[in-house]
Parts: sequence; C-alpha cells; structure tokens
Amino acid sequence: MECRICESQELKLFYTQGDKLQYKFYKCAKCGLVNLDTKGLVISKNQEKYFGRFKPIENYENEIGAKAAYNFIKKYVPIKGSYLDIGCGGGSVLYFAKKDGWKVKGLEISPDYAKYVKEKLDVEVYTANFLHYENSSEQFDLVSLRHVLEHLPDSILAMNKISALLKKGGYAHFEFPNINSLSHKFRRMMTNLKLSNKKYDASYNPGHCNEFSKRTFKYLLKLTNFELVRWETYSFKPNTNFFYNNIKIGTKARAIIRKI
Ligand SMILES: [Zn+2]
Repeated sequence: MECRICESQELKLFYTQGDKLQYKFYKCAKCGLVNLDTKGLVISKNQEKYFGRFKPIENYENEIGAKAAYNFIKKYVPIKGSYLDIGCGGGSVLYFAKKDGWKVKGLEISPDYAKYVKEKLDVEVYTANFLHYENSSEQFDLVSLRHVLEHLPDSILAMNKISALLKKGGYAHFEFPNINSLSHKFRRMMTNLKLSNKKYDASYNPGHCNEFSKRTFKYLLKLTNFELVRWETYSFKPNTNFFYNNIKIGTKARAIIRKI
C-alpha cells in the first residue's frame, strides 16, 4: 500500500476501527495523510447509508452549523457571485448564501434531498456522486464541500474536479475532521491502549478514506495548484470556539482556499 496523496510507502499504523478492529488507518511519514486501507472494501457501501437518512429541515434559521459555515465564508471570501454546494444535504448553507445574494446551486448524492431542496428553496440541484460527476463547462466563483472530502477515496481527483468547477481565482470552502484535535488524539490513545469503550456494530464500515491535518491539507493544495486563504478549527460548542480558533486543536477544521 502507498499513500494516496504522495505515493510514499512509509506508512505507519495509526489507529483501527470495527468490531474486530479490522479497519486499519495508516499515517504517511512524508505528507501526514491518514489513509484507510481500502483493500477489499466497497467504499460506496458507506456512502449509501446517507441515502436513507433524509430528514426535512423545520426552520432554516435554526441551522446553527450552516449559519456558522456561511458566516465563515462571508468573512474570508471577498467576492460574491455564483456558488455550488457539493453535498448540499437539506440545503441549509444554500439557504443562507441565497438570502445574502449569491446565485446558488447544489450537488447532492441523495435524490430525496435533491428533490427537497429544489422544492423548498427553488434552487437547482444536480444529483450525482461528486467523483463521478461530469461537469459541463459551467464554472463558479465558490464551491463548498462540508464533510465530503474525507469520504472521497481519491483526494487529488477531487481537487482537480473542484479546480475545473472554479473560475480562475475562485474560492473553495471545506469542513472536515481535524486529526490533530485533542479529542481525536485522546480517542486514538485509548483505542491503541485497548482502553476504548467504543463499541462497533458488526455491520459497521468506515466512511472516512482520508484524514487531514493542516500540514497534509497544505501539501494537497500545493500539488493541485491552490493556496490556503484561511484555516481554523472549531467544535460544536460555540463557547469553546474562541479557544479552538486560537490554538487550533478543535475537533473539526474549516478552510477557505483559492485557485491559483
Ligand atoms: Zn503521503
């Protein structure tokens, strides 16, 4: 097995998951990417579980995570134009962006969500798996991938697809887990010491193929001709956000990048 970003073979077992600890994640010594060993796994199996997870949104104004995501965009993206939310779910970020004057579209793997967003927000939504999505010549000023990148086996292909969807100088917005967070470090330590009480269902199959730290993400950007505009970490507890944003150990990371 080699690292899926830098092709180095210097991989070290980082942690395991599953009822028999059969799912193995290896960290690359060169670029720091955490690679799930996908040999024998059908990754789309995990993605399929999102199909059945449809839940209507009662009030978009109460979608705190989406509101925070949009505020982050507003703060660090200095332009306003066309926006594609890749993996738009129920359309909550699209809602805030549209309200603020963006021309918005969505891309969603679940047909139920795609239909819902079309009806509820009057927004066009393409139904597709992003890595199989064949882009026309349409290009945007901004695209978002919230909790999507880590699920896509081929990060370089994903970044190239994002690049093709963006105008020159266009921006992309991401959210994904931060492998250097305190809580992830603690959880890995407990698993590795066999002290974790986390129980996995026999049917569990992992969804994250690749996991990033700031260093790894910057490396990926360099390979695919993007520059980092802003990196932050955060948690779901807003009162600890100030702390996390400043010392960068929050459970999740969010970033704005720009196509060079
Ligand atoms: Zn690597």
